[in-house]
Amino acid sequence: MRLLIVEDETALAEALTEILKQNGYLADAVANGAEALEYIRTQIYDLILLDIMLPGMDGLSILRQIRQEKIFTPVILLTAKAEVDDIVAGLDAGSDDYLPKPFSTAELLARVRALSRRGQQYRENALSCDDLSLQKSTMELCCGENAIRLGQKEYQLMELFLRNPRQVLPKELLLTKIWGLDTDTDYNNVEVYISFLRQKLHALGTRVSIKTSRGVGYSLEITKGDSL
Ligand code: CA
Repeated sequence: MRLLIVEDETALAEALTEILKQNGYLADAVANGAEALEYIRTQIYDLILLDIMLPGMDGLSILRQIRQEKIFTPVILLTAKAEVDDIVAGLDAGSDDYLPKPFSTAELLARVRALSRRGQQYRENALSCDDLSLQKSTMELCCGENAIRLGQKEYQLMELFLRNPRQVLPKELLLTKIWGLDTDTDYNNVEVYISFLRQKLHALGTRVSIKTSRGVGYSLEITKGDSL
């Protein structure tokens, strides 16, 4: 899961980034409206934390703009003044939730969890596909009685595949979503991590595998053992 934080108070933006990273999310932060729009339009984000009072373009205008562009990434508004008017305007403009400042870490994480579950095939603490499951709390990939702990990047990649089974995920999407927009990493690195994951899937003995669509990307597929 990659989150975008749109917040002009540097200290708060840094604290939010740190908290989210410590809790297993990938997070980027931007501090003004123009940058926010540019980042949101890449559509690599699963959730946006959007401050209302921003230099350049305010949060509500950003929200209206992206909804008009049919970008439906869930948005949690961060509002300094917990005024009813702001909240109502926010919900009207297409926000999914709001969080009045100041808020606690627990409150923030609860809202993020609630929204990231929405529309996802989250079963309690695990994502699954056929005989394969990924445990969020332990970062373990499991098949039957076998389990292998994944590294951070492997986990993020596997999570993305399990949320989009049988869909070809372009290499570029994987690169920007897992490594970020400003990354120096190239496609070779994506290939390396895909090969790590394949080795682990093989070791687990699962029917699930990662298929290459040459020149395009990768998809998670279920092999029907008997029909081969
Ligand atoms: Ca602000």
